[in-house]
Amino acid sequence: MEKVDFIKLCQDSAKANNHELSAKLLPSARQYLLEHGLGKLPVIWLETNDSGDNNIAFMNTTYPYLNQVFRDMIDLLYSNTFMAAQGTDALQLLEDTMNHYQGKFTLVVEGAVPAKDGGLYNVIARTKKGPLTALDAVVRLGEAAQYVVAIGTCASFGGASSAAPNVTGSVGISQVLKRQVINVSGCPVNPDWFVGTLAHLLMYGPPEVDELNRPKLFYGATVHRHCQRRSYFDNKEYAKQLGDIECMFSQGCSGPRTGSDCPYRQWINHVSWPVKVNTPCIGCTNRDFPDGSAPFFSPLPQKTTSHKQQPDMGKERP
Ligand code: SF4
Repeated sequence: MEKVDFIKLCQDSAKANNHELSAKLLPSARQYLLEHGLGKLPVIWLETNDSGDNNIAFMNTTYPYLNQVFRDMIDLLYSNTFMAAQGTDALQLLEDTMNHYQGKFTLVVEGAVPAKDGGLYNVIARTKKGPLTALDAVVRLGEAAQYVVAIGTCASFGGASSAAPNVTGSVGISQVLKRQVINVSGCPVNPDWFVGTLAHLLMYGPPEVDELNRPKLFYGATVHRHCQRRSYFDNKEYAKQLGDIECMFSQGCSGPRTGSDCPYRQWINHVSWPVKVNTPCIGCTNRDFPDGSAPFFSPLPQKTTSHKQQPDMGKERP
Protein backbone atom coordinates (compact mmCIF):
# COMPACT_ATOMS: atom_id res chain seq x y z
CA MET A 1 0.00 0.00 0.00
CA GLU A 2 1.38 3.43 -0.95
CA LYS A 3 1.76 5.94 1.88
CA VAL A 4 -0.78 8.30 0.35
CA ASP A 5 -3.34 5.47 0.29
CA PHE A 6 -2.60 4.69 3.94
CA ILE A 7 -3.25 8.31 4.96
CA LYS A 8 -6.47 8.37 2.95
CA LEU A 9 -7.52 5.08 4.51
CA CYS A 10 -7.00 6.40 8.05
CA GLN A 11 -9.01 9.51 7.32
CA ASP A 12 -11.76 7.95 5.22
CA SER A 13 -12.34 5.12 7.66
CA ALA A 14 -13.15 7.63 10.37
CA LYS A 15 -15.38 9.72 8.15
CA ALA A 16 -17.32 6.72 6.95
CA ASN A 17 -17.33 5.26 10.47
CA ASN A 18 -16.68 1.85 8.98
CA HIS A 19 -14.18 -0.87 9.72
CA GLU A 20 -11.88 -0.48 6.74
CA LEU A 21 -8.90 0.47 8.85
CA SER A 22 -8.61 -3.03 10.25
CA ALA A 23 -9.86 -4.80 7.18
CA LYS A 24 -7.19 -3.18 5.01
CA LEU A 25 -4.50 -2.03 7.41
CA LEU A 26 -3.59 -5.36 8.93
CA PRO A 27 -3.37 -7.37 5.71
CA SER A 28 -1.34 -4.50 4.22
CA ALA A 29 0.98 -4.36 7.21
CA ARG A 30 1.45 -8.13 7.15
CA GLN A 31 2.13 -8.08 3.39
CA TYR A 32 4.56 -5.18 3.77
CA LEU A 33 6.50 -6.96 6.49
CA LEU A 34 6.70 -10.15 4.42
CA GLU A 35 7.83 -8.33 1.29
CA HIS A 36 10.50 -6.37 3.14
CA GLY A 37 11.68 -9.22 5.35
CA LEU A 38 10.77 -7.24 8.45
CA GLY A 39 9.45 -8.28 11.82
CA LYS A 40 6.94 -6.53 14.00
CA LEU A 41 7.74 -3.20 15.61
CA PRO A 42 9.76 -3.85 18.83
CA VAL A 43 8.31 -1.68 21.60
CA ILE A 44 9.41 -0.74 25.11
CA TRP A 45 6.53 0.95 26.97
CA LEU A 46 7.31 2.94 30.08
CA GLU A 47 4.54 4.35 32.23
CA THR A 48 5.54 7.29 34.42
CA ASN A 49 3.38 10.01 36.05
CA ASP A 50 -0.18 9.72 34.78
CA SER A 51 -3.54 8.21 35.58
CA GLY A 52 -3.16 5.08 33.44
CA ASP A 53 -5.94 6.23 31.13
CA ASN A 54 -3.94 5.82 27.94
CA ASN A 55 -3.14 2.14 28.32
CA ILE A 56 -6.83 1.54 29.07
CA ALA A 57 -7.75 3.51 25.95
CA PHE A 58 -5.22 1.46 23.97
CA MET A 59 -6.76 -1.79 25.25
CA ASN A 60 -10.10 -0.57 23.90
CA THR A 61 -8.79 -0.44 20.35
CA THR A 62 -11.25 -1.84 17.84
CA TYR A 63 -10.48 -2.54 14.20
CA PRO A 64 -7.79 -3.63 14.86
CA TYR A 65 -8.47 -5.26 18.22
CA LEU A 66 -5.76 -5.58 20.83
CA ASN A 67 -4.96 -9.22 19.98
CA GLN A 68 -4.54 -8.26 16.32
CA VAL A 69 -2.20 -5.41 17.25
CA PHE A 70 -0.02 -7.78 19.26
CA ARG A 71 -0.20 -10.56 16.67
CA ASP A 72 0.48 -8.51 13.55
CA MET A 73 1.98 -5.15 14.42
CA ILE A 74 4.05 -4.85 17.59
CA ASP A 75 6.30 -6.91 19.86
CA LEU A 76 5.68 -5.48 23.32
CA LEU A 77 9.04 -6.39 24.83
CA TYR A 78 8.75 -4.50 28.11
CA SER A 79 5.89 -2.73 29.86
CA ASN A 80 5.86 -1.99 33.57
CA THR A 81 2.06 -1.84 33.30
CA PHE A 82 1.20 -4.90 31.23
CA MET A 83 3.85 -7.44 32.25
CA ALA A 84 3.91 -9.73 35.28
CA ALA A 85 7.62 -9.40 36.12
CA GLN A 86 8.47 -7.21 39.12
CA GLY A 87 11.53 -6.00 40.98
CA THR A 88 14.98 -7.20 39.88
CA ASP A 89 13.48 -9.46 37.19
CA ALA A 90 11.76 -6.48 35.59
CA LEU A 91 14.83 -4.29 35.81
CA GLN A 92 17.02 -6.98 34.27
CA LEU A 93 14.50 -7.43 31.47
CA LEU A 94 14.55 -3.70 30.78
CA GLU A 95 18.37 -3.63 30.63
CA ASP A 96 18.58 -6.76 28.45
CA THR A 97 15.91 -5.53 26.06
CA MET A 98 17.48 -2.11 25.71
CA ASN A 99 20.91 -3.59 25.00
CA HIS A 100 19.67 -6.25 22.60
CA TYR A 101 17.49 -3.89 20.57
CA GLN A 102 19.80 -0.87 20.74
CA GLY A 103 18.75 1.61 18.03
CA LYS A 104 15.99 -0.68 16.80
CA PHE A 105 13.15 -0.38 19.30
CA THR A 106 10.34 2.15 19.63
CA LEU A 107 10.07 3.79 23.03
CA VAL A 108 6.51 4.55 24.08
CA VAL A 109 6.22 6.76 27.14
CA GLU A 110 2.92 7.17 28.92
CA GLY A 111 2.96 9.95 31.53
CA ALA A 112 4.92 13.07 32.35
CA VAL A 113 8.43 13.08 33.80
CA PRO A 114 8.97 14.77 37.18
CA ALA A 115 12.13 16.77 36.59
CA LYS A 116 12.42 18.64 39.91
CA ASP A 117 15.03 17.56 42.50
CA GLY A 118 16.79 15.25 40.07
CA GLY A 119 13.59 13.38 39.27
CA LEU A 120 13.21 11.87 42.75
CA TYR A 121 9.41 12.09 42.66
CA ASN A 122 9.21 9.01 40.46
CA VAL A 123 11.65 6.18 41.24
CA ILE A 124 11.06 3.12 39.10
CA ALA A 125 13.73 0.91 40.71
CA ARG A 126 16.34 0.87 43.46
CA THR A 127 19.69 -0.35 42.20
CA LYS A 128 23.11 -0.83 43.76
CA LYS A 129 24.09 2.49 42.19
CA GLY A 130 21.12 4.26 43.77
CA PRO A 131 17.56 5.07 42.69
CA LEU A 132 16.69 4.77 39.01
CA THR A 133 14.28 7.61 38.38
CA ALA A 134 11.75 7.87 35.57
CA LEU A 135 13.79 10.83 34.37
CA ASP A 136 16.97 8.69 34.14
CA ALA A 137 15.09 5.87 32.42
CA VAL A 138 13.40 8.10 29.84
CA VAL A 139 16.70 9.78 28.97
CA ARG A 140 18.61 6.48 28.68
CA LEU A 141 15.91 4.68 26.75
CA GLY A 142 15.22 7.73 24.60
CA GLU A 143 18.84 7.92 23.52
CA ALA A 144 18.88 4.21 22.64
CA ALA A 145 15.56 4.08 20.76
CA GLN A 146 14.90 4.28 17.03
CA TYR A 147 11.65 6.18 17.53
CA VAL A 148 10.11 7.84 20.57
CA VAL A 149 6.35 8.17 20.91
CA ALA A 150 4.61 10.09 23.70
CA ILE A 151 1.16 8.64 24.29
CA GLY A 152 -1.32 10.98 25.97
CA THR A 153 -1.09 14.65 26.92
CA CYS A 154 1.00 14.10 30.08
CA ALA A 155 3.83 12.47 28.12
CA SER A 156 3.41 14.92 25.24
CA PHE A 157 3.26 18.21 27.13
CA GLY A 158 3.06 17.56 30.88
CA GLY A 159 -0.76 17.53 30.95
CA ALA A 160 -2.64 17.06 34.20
CA SER A 161 0.57 15.88 35.91
CA SER A 162 2.08 19.33 35.36
CA ALA A 163 -1.03 21.35 36.28
CA ALA A 164 -0.45 24.26 38.65
CA PRO A 165 1.16 24.29 41.14
CA ASN A 166 3.16 21.39 39.61
CA VAL A 167 5.09 20.60 42.76
CA THR A 168 7.03 17.76 41.07
CA GLY A 169 8.23 19.93 38.18
CA SER A 170 6.64 17.48 35.72
CA VAL A 171 7.21 18.05 32.02
CA GLY A 172 6.52 16.33 28.72
CA ILE A 173 9.27 13.98 27.57
CA SER A 174 10.35 16.20 24.69
CA GLN A 175 11.64 18.61 27.33
CA VAL A 176 14.15 16.09 28.64
CA LEU A 177 15.15 14.47 25.33
CA LYS A 178 17.31 16.05 22.65
CA ARG A 179 15.64 14.27 19.76
CA GLN A 180 12.38 14.03 17.86
CA VAL A 181 9.41 12.89 19.91
CA ILE A 182 6.14 12.08 18.15
CA ASN A 183 3.39 13.44 20.37
CA VAL A 184 0.13 11.50 20.28
CA SER A 185 -1.72 13.69 22.72
CA GLY A 186 -5.17 13.36 24.25
CA CYS A 187 -6.56 12.81 27.72
CA PRO A 188 -6.90 9.98 27.04
CA VAL A 189 -5.64 9.27 23.56
CA ASN A 190 -8.06 7.93 20.97
CA PRO A 191 -6.79 4.37 20.31
CA ASP A 192 -6.91 4.97 16.54
CA TRP A 193 -4.44 7.86 16.86
CA PHE A 194 -1.95 5.67 18.67
CA VAL A 195 -2.38 2.44 16.68
CA GLY A 196 -2.39 4.44 13.43
CA THR A 197 0.87 6.14 14.43
CA LEU A 198 2.48 2.79 15.23
CA ALA A 199 1.30 1.45 11.87
CA HIS A 200 2.82 4.45 10.12
CA LEU A 201 6.14 3.94 11.90
CA LEU A 202 6.11 0.27 11.02
CA MET A 203 5.43 0.76 7.33
CA TYR A 204 6.73 4.21 6.40
CA GLY A 205 8.72 5.61 9.33
CA PRO A 206 7.81 8.84 11.14
CA PRO A 207 4.57 10.52 10.01
CA GLU A 208 4.30 14.17 8.96
CA VAL A 209 3.71 16.24 12.10
CA ASP A 210 2.23 19.62 13.01
CA GLU A 211 3.86 22.42 15.01
CA LEU A 212 3.34 20.44 18.21
CA ASN A 213 4.95 17.31 16.70
CA ARG A 214 1.62 15.50 16.44
CA PRO A 215 0.76 13.36 13.37
CA LYS A 216 -1.10 15.62 10.95
CA LEU A 217 -3.29 12.81 9.72
CA PHE A 218 -5.10 12.83 13.09
CA TYR A 219 -4.52 16.34 14.46
CA GLY A 220 -4.32 18.39 11.27
CA ALA A 221 -7.69 20.17 11.57
CA THR A 222 -9.58 21.65 14.49
CA VAL A 223 -12.48 19.99 16.24
CA HIS A 224 -14.44 23.11 15.30
CA ARG A 225 -13.88 22.59 11.59
CA HIS A 226 -15.83 19.34 11.39
CA CYS A 227 -18.17 19.80 14.38
CA GLN A 228 -21.79 18.85 13.76
CA ARG A 229 -22.83 22.14 15.45
CA ARG A 230 -20.68 24.30 13.18
CA SER A 231 -23.67 25.76 11.31
CA TYR A 232 -25.00 27.12 14.64
CA PHE A 233 -21.65 28.78 15.28
CA ASP A 234 -21.60 30.31 11.79
CA ASN A 235 -25.12 31.67 12.38
CA LYS A 236 -24.11 32.95 15.84
CA GLU A 237 -26.68 30.73 17.53
CA TYR A 238 -25.23 29.75 20.90
CA ALA A 239 -26.47 27.46 23.66
CA LYS A 240 -27.85 29.32 26.67
CA GLN A 241 -27.15 26.35 28.91
CA LEU A 242 -25.72 22.85 28.69
CA GLY A 243 -28.22 20.58 26.97
CA ASP A 244 -29.30 23.14 24.37
CA ILE A 245 -28.77 22.02 20.79
CA GLU A 246 -26.90 25.13 19.60
CA CYS A 247 -23.16 25.77 19.47
CA MET A 248 -21.46 25.44 22.89
CA PHE A 249 -18.84 28.14 22.36
CA SER A 250 -20.82 30.09 24.94
CA GLN A 251 -20.45 27.19 27.38
CA GLY A 252 -16.67 27.03 27.16
CA CYS A 253 -16.10 24.84 24.11
CA SER A 254 -12.41 24.76 23.16
CA GLY A 255 -13.10 23.22 19.75
CA PRO A 256 -11.88 26.26 17.76
CA ARG A 257 -8.36 26.02 19.18
CA THR A 258 -8.06 22.23 19.46
CA GLY A 259 -6.61 20.00 16.78
CA SER A 260 -8.17 16.53 16.47
CA ASP A 261 -10.61 14.54 14.35
CA CYS A 262 -12.98 13.70 17.25
CA PRO A 263 -16.17 14.87 15.44
CA TYR A 264 -15.93 12.20 12.77
CA ARG A 265 -13.61 9.55 14.24
CA GLN A 266 -15.47 9.55 17.58
CA TRP A 267 -14.87 7.34 20.60
CA ILE A 268 -15.88 4.04 22.23
CA ASN A 269 -15.95 1.96 19.09
CA HIS A 270 -16.45 5.13 17.04
CA VAL A 271 -19.96 5.90 18.30
CA SER A 272 -19.82 9.20 20.16
CA TRP A 273 -17.80 12.21 21.32
CA PRO A 274 -18.26 15.04 23.85
CA VAL A 275 -20.20 17.59 21.78
CA LYS A 276 -22.53 14.85 20.57
CA VAL A 277 -23.50 14.21 24.21
CA ASN A 278 -23.86 17.93 25.09
CA THR A 279 -20.43 18.46 26.67
CA PRO A 280 -18.08 21.14 25.34
CA CYS A 281 -14.69 20.11 24.01
CA ILE A 282 -12.19 20.77 26.82
CA GLY A 283 -9.15 20.90 24.55
CA CYS A 284 -7.44 17.79 25.93
CA THR A 285 -5.01 17.42 23.02
CA ASN A 286 -3.56 20.90 23.54
CA ARG A 287 -0.14 21.80 24.88
CA ASP A 288 -1.65 23.97 27.63
CA PHE A 289 -4.21 21.41 28.84
CA PRO A 290 -5.63 21.47 31.50
CA ASP A 291 -4.60 24.87 32.90
CA GLY A 292 -5.21 26.68 29.60
CA SER A 293 -8.73 25.21 29.30
CA ALA A 294 -9.77 26.09 32.84
CA PRO A 295 -12.40 26.80 33.93
CA PHE A 296 -13.80 24.22 31.51
CA PHE A 297 -17.29 25.67 31.23
CA SER A 298 -16.40 29.32 30.70
CA PRO A 299 -16.13 30.96 27.27
CA LEU A 300 -12.62 31.16 25.79
CA PRO A 301 -11.82 34.80 26.67
CA GLN A 302 -12.52 34.07 30.35
CA LYS A 303 -10.30 31.02 30.56
CA THR A 304 -7.09 31.24 32.48
CA THR A 305 -3.86 31.09 30.56
CA SER A 306 -0.84 29.21 31.77
CA HIS A 307 2.90 29.15 31.42
CA LYS A 308 2.38 26.67 28.59
CA GLN A 309 0.01 28.89 26.61
CA GLN A 310 -0.32 27.93 22.97
CA PRO A 311 0.61 30.37 20.24
CA ASP A 312 -2.75 29.86 18.56
CA MET A 313 -4.81 30.47 21.71
CA GLY A 314 -8.33 31.42 20.73
CA LYS A 315 -7.64 31.37 17.01
CA GLU A 316 -9.09 28.81 14.69
CA ARG A 317 -6.66 26.69 12.74
CA PRO A 318 -7.65 25.53 9.26
S1 SF4 B 1 -17.47 26.02 19.30
FE1 SF4 B 1 -17.57 23.85 19.89
S2 SF4 B 1 -19.74 23.28 19.76
FE2 SF4 B 1 -19.47 25.21 18.62
S3 SF4 B 1 -19.13 24.53 16.52
FE3 SF4 B 1 -17.11 24.83 17.44
S4 SF4 B 1 -16.56 22.80 18.21
FE4 SF4 B 1 -18.75 22.76 17.83
